[in-house]
Amino acid sequence: MITDFLSISSTEHWRHQEKLKTDLTLIATMTTNIRFSARCSSLLRSSIVGLSLMALLTNSLAVTSRGQTALPATNQSDAAAQLSVRIMPPDGSAFLVEQLFDIRVEGPPNLSGPVNISLDGRDISKWNNRSHLTGRPLDHPSSRALNGAPAFLSRDWSFPNAGRHTLRATVDGKAARQVSFEIIAWQGTGPKVRNVILLIGDGMGVAHRTAGRVVSRGLTEGRYRNGMLEMDQMQVTGLVTTSSLTAMVTDSAPGASCYATGNKAANHQEGVFPDNSDSETLKRTDPESDAFFDNPKVENISEYLRRARGMNLGLVTTADVTDATPAAFAVHTSNRNASTRIADDYFDRRNQTGLTVLMGGGRQWFEPKGQKKGGRRSTPTNAKVDPARDLVKAFQSAGFAFTDSTKSLQAGSVSRAPRLLGLFAPSTMPTAFDKLGHGAERVNNVPMLDDMARVAISSLSSSSPRGFFLMIEGASIDKQAHAEDADRAIWETIEFDRAVGVAKRFAEQTNSDADPHNDTLVVVTADHETSGFSLIGARNPDPRIPRGSRDVARAYRGFTDYKDGNGDGYPDEVDPPHKLIVGFGAGTDRYEDWISNKLPLPPSVIKDGRVVANPRRDGPEDADPASRNGTLLTGQVENGEVASAASDPDGELITNAVHTSSDIPLTASGPGAMQFVGVQDNTSVFFKMMRSLGGSYQRIYYDGPRNASTRQRRRTKSF
Ligand SMILES: [Zn+2]
Repeated sequence: MITDFLSISSTEHWRHQEKLKTDLTLIATMTTNIRFSARCSSLLRSSIVGLSLMALLTNSLAVTSRGQTALPATNQSDAAAQLSVRIMPPDGSAFLVEQLFDIRVEGPPNLSGPVNISLDGRDISKWNNRSHLTGRPLDHPSSRALNGAPAFLSRDWSFPNAGRHTLRATVDGKAARQVSFEIIAWQGTGPKVRNVILLIGDGMGVAHRTAGRVVSRGLTEGRYRNGMLEMDQMQVTGLVTTSSLTAMVTDSAPGASCYATGNKAANHQEGVFPDNSDSETLKRTDPESDAFFDNPKVENISEYLRRARGMNLGLVTTADVTDATPAAFAVHTSNRNASTRIADDYFDRRNQTGLTVLMGGGRQWFEPKGQKKGGRRSTPTNAKVDPARDLVKAFQSAGFAFTDSTKSLQAGSVSRAPRLLGLFAPSTMPTAFDKLGHGAERVNNVPMLDDMARVAISSLSSSSPRGFFLMIEGASIDKQAHAEDADRAIWETIEFDRAVGVAKRFAEQTNSDADPHNDTLVVVTADHETSGFSLIGARNPDPRIPRGSRDVARAYRGFTDYKDGNGDGYPDEVDPPHKLIVGFGAGTDRYEDWISNKLPLPPSVIKDGRVVANPRRDGPEDADPASRNGTLLTGQVENGEVASAASDPDGELITNAVHTSSDIPLTASGPGAMQFVGVQDNTSVFFKMMRSLGGSYQRIYYDGPRNASTRQRRRTKSF
């Protein structure tokens, strides 16, 4: 694979002197880490008394459900008004030194204003509807609120030094709210990495990774005798929390946005904080509305690195390239489904984001409406969307090589191109299981994720003298876990792991050569867990047990018997006798015969307003007679039985497994990887990547004190 890689990376000069740079750095950071934690815990202990006192003194400050601090109320109706003052950024937010973000205040609709806002005690109300960076009025002011409530918006704030700041807003002299946020340094004097490759296995929890390892490597006598996965063999392992600003269980938009901005976002939103012009009704009538592009923004990693460093951005996925995970790294929107404008933004804002490589599915958003190969560009009343726009042509005119097949991807003119657009399917790309010929549908000339990763790295490394940030997503680990299709989800995980291998080979070269200025940090994680994936055991192959029986899922006995004769990482046989049996703890109803599905069908369907098992998948209407005896397994997710859809007008009945809020694993290699040890908030992954780029990772960034103070305060109350 290395030679393969070398052959297409023509402009990079590889040197092969072995040195212990990375290991020495790791030992150094480890020592710092130990000293740091020891000091920190004693500091924490001694500060408990102080915090308790502080909690008593500030007992009148109530912590609301949004985590914002409401000021003491004088009477009941004022108290009600206070609760509805909203300040963005939310309390406890953190930004990098010089990272841009917007400030917004929304008053309660029953008050008429004015909004007064102070920053660290200084009145900043005059900045309403202006950019703090340029001083100019905003191009698209958002102080217009749906309910006519008083509001304040000022864009492009940033701070030159690390420290804590407080925003206090008063509406109509009555309602008040206060939040504080932190500015974090990232530039240091230590060695900096030039490139970061972030690989996101969408929906990939611990069990998806274990399943990938069992099926790919085989397991006998309790041992993985053929080794571990690529993502298992990295220098550092940690766990990441996944909750979003608005829910315990996140979707992929805030799940990726936290890595892109260092901040929590609301579900379905990315690169922005919520505002009161977001509307669920509008999402249905005009999904591309300005209301979804006017929210208070946070500068994301690609914009900041472009501005500060002149770095390039690469986005590679197996989903539509406009899907939530890739879009979070380049786009700001409160509607992740505004696919046409997201595609437009990729092109129109490429100079701000440094986007030079964009690969995946979703050609439908790039072709003019009505075009044969897709063309689903929507035609809302919104004049900003041109349904006839040909974005493929636009990218080509701007110097991007275009590829839509494995064949053209591997042609020299494409793999060596400095700028690259690859669109390999109208929407989501076929799964690895189908690309490798195990499904009923023939798939030809569609590249694997590792093929795309190899070309993306080759292109970016040759065209990015100032470095690159590359996000590679295995999108259908999530999509197939949603579909409760264990085989496809596992094949996707293996495909993703092969892409991890490609990234690791590149990083091993940059990190072991004589050049200290070209190093690469590789981070492998997910955005959340999908489906409550659980590994029950190996299939009971006893021929007397009917194919669809629950007794197939034998407990506490035996091993799987996958073999990989050609060593490509994928097993030779899809349904070996002792196949891995998977359960879905956050699933809907489904029929199950424990045999791989020839067609990727949804596990459930809606019938008479209720979610029921899909009779066409292993059920009574399955096209394959042998699959009609699947057993009915009932799920745990709401199914409309007590009219949940009617009681929640914005809620839609869900016909597949859902995300869970389990922590997700993270593994990392390269300079700064040691920062990722332990359990961390998902937003801190952003700061750690940036501190690797800024050469300040030797002093471990620790996001604990903020949380610790909350914890201490609560504990005092229960004494
Ligand atoms: Zn999902």
